[in-house]
Amino acid sequence: MPSLAPRPDLDSLPKYVPGRTIQGAIKLASNEVPGGPLPSVRAAITDAMADVNRYPDAGSLALRQRLAADLDVTVDQVAIGCGSVALCQQLVQAVCGPGDEAMYAWRSFEAYPIVVQVAHAESVKVPLTSGHGLDLDAMLAAITDRTKLVFVCNPNNPTGTVLTRDEIARFIDAVPSHVLVVLDEAYKEFVTDADVPDGIEFTRTHDNVAVLRTFSKAYGLAGLRVGYAVASPAIAEALRQVCVTFSVNAIAQVAAMASLDAADELLERCREIVVERERVRTALLEMGYEIPPTQANFVWFPLGERTVAFAEHMLDRKLIVRPFAGDGARVTIGTPEENDQFLAAAREYLA
Ligand code: PMP
Repeated sequence: MPSLAPRPDLDSLPKYVPGRTIQGAIKLASNEVPGGPLPSVRAAITDAMADVNRYPDAGSLALRQRLAADLDVTVDQVAIGCGSVALCQQLVQAVCGPGDEAMYAWRSFEAYPIVVQVAHAESVKVPLTSGHGLDLDAMLAAITDRTKLVFVCNPNNPTGTVLTRDEIARFIDAVPSHVLVVLDEAYKEFVTDADVPDGIEFTRTHDNVAVLRTFSKAYGLAGLRVGYAVASPAIAEALRQVCVTFSVNAIAQVAAMASLDAADELLERCREIVVERERVRTALLEMGYEIPPTQANFVWFPLGERTVAFAEHMLDRKLIVRPFAGDGARVTIGTPEENDQFLAAAREYLA
């Protein structure tokens, strides 16, 4: 008799280690923004509660229409997901079959290896450059007939580095048209470098480009789980086909639309975080830390074997950062007061 057991390969599935939350500690581990929802977003959430006896709009049509209008794309180019991490999974499911290859730089967003393995596809990890950025030439060279998808995280999580318009354009032009290039722009709203493109411009000329965005970071809705993809109509339709029905809940849809209405105010908060980012990085450089230039709402400490000790030092001071053992630590930019506490602890670590 066959016995019931989970897939044996799940034993080797990398674990997603979420940032910890500890009572009384400052969490700088998950790249959230420090401010809570604006009053207008809170009010929209409260109003939406009145209808939760009803299923949500399974197609998130109102939100798709709103995004399409804002981004100057068609409604059939937009797909909504339960956070952009769900859309990462849906993209792999939509284009990769067993044995197909999905490529990404490493280190990058830690969900990529998980969603690829779950889809029975194979991960091809291309090391970062010595400057902690994506090595697009090496990625191009690693493309094979089996490559179906390439994740390009810009800015890259966890290093914060960016690719320019010219670099991405050259890459996309050189990638075979049967390979889907996924520009993961989760941190786009924190970018100030004018050479970094809005990935949606590439979807206008290339059917094999998809852009991922999220309401979790700049828009401050991480707890509600909503993100979106802009792609060709065929890829966007495939994303909707593989989506778990009704997974994007009604409150998330309404809160996302209310956040778009409040975009000016929310993006102003991002600008304050950017000012803090530059202050924090400058202070760390003055202390002697190596911190790559960052365009996201976090800084990267390439500490190698010292990573875990650094994170423990921070935890002892009630500061939660995100260690990637043997590689480096990522620290989210918080409020000015939180950042001051972190900087004081970083100075102590060197003492
Ligand atoms: N992409 C990147 C690069 C990320 O860092 C994250 C969140 N850490 C996501 C996607 C997923 O974010 P969410 O699912 O909250 O939209």
